Amino acid sequence: VPSALHPIVKQNADALKAAAANKGISVVITEGFRSFKEQDELYKQGRTKKGNIVTYARGGESYHNYGLAIDFALQKKDGSIIWDMEYDGNQNGKSDWLEVVEIAKKLGFKWGGDWKRFKDYPHLEMIPH
Ligand SMILES: [Zn+2]
Repeated sequence: VPSALHPIVKQNADALKAAAANKGISVVITEGFRSFKEQDELYKQGRTKKGNIVTYARGGESYHNYGLAIDFALQKKDGSIIWDMEYDGNQNGKSDWLEVVEIAKKLGFKWGGDWKRFKDYPHLEMIPH
């Protein structure tokens, strides 16, 4: 059982941050590796615990449990972390969020926003080759 991000995923997460920074977008990785136990706790949210449902994966079912997934957010110049998909901080007329997703896909990540059942917009995952 892994206990950290897979080195290739880590490398691509760093590449994503660097490529986004080149476009004037500051990316923050808010989640990476998650243990089976932590995943089970998260699964309870919106079910037996308070809050909104944030995952459909139990321990062992999420790419986070194998160090193959990251969640990202954007950081504004004032330091605040946002999950605003409309935000256009670099003012190029495009959503910063979707620009990050585009870079991530080029790096080989799959995006949770493309999922049919449950859209997980901050989520990126990959199987390293
Ligand atoms: Zn995720």
